[in-house]
Amino acid sequence: MQDLPSTLTDNDLDRIKAAIKHRWPNQQASPKARTYLNQFYQCKRRGAKITAKVEGNYGTYTVTIDVREADVSSACSCYIGAGGYCHHCEALALAFLQGEHLFEEIPSQTLERVESMAELRAYLEQTTLASLLEALRRHGVTQKAFAESMGMSSRHLSSMKSSELRNRYHKELGVAKVACLWMLDHIARFGNG
Ligand SMILES: [Zn+2]
Repeated sequence: MQDLPSTLTDNDLDRIKAAIKHRWPNQQASPKARTYLNQFYQCKRRGAKITAKVEGNYGTYTVTIDVREADVSSACSCYIGAGGYCHHCEALALAFLQGEHLFEEIPSQTLERVESMAELRAYLEQTTLASLLEALRRHGVTQKAFAESMGMSSRHLSSMKSSELRNRYHKELGVAKVACLWMLDHIARFGNG
């Protein structure tokens, strides 16, 4: 994560491009990144976050670049991609600059408008476990207490949370998120007590 220039516009496309040029100022792809430039598939953009898949040396990697208010973060599920500085992230950044139209725009899904299982899934995909646990914490529910209520160790929950931020998805991730939503809804209706 790093600061961005303050001359950002409200337009998501422009924001992503400005952030990419700031984070990867060298517009020439490195030799390693170049081999991946045209290899991305399932290219999607939701707001100011782009996601794509690519076949790497050790399987399929999920690569993301996410531009928020004052920072840009990138992540890749490859073994060196935790900090977002691997050549797959660099390649995705440059691929977006070269072909933003290849990224399918996915509308944001708000929780209030979830009316079907497909919409629930879309909502869960765009909402991290970390953000849901943070919302619970603001209501006085610690991660440890929440994990125990599900019969899960806090360490396991932590592992699921940090794995998701590396684009690695635990099979129980969706269940944990739904449990968070249920708890938040319960607190909203009945309070925390
Ligand atoms: Zn990578």
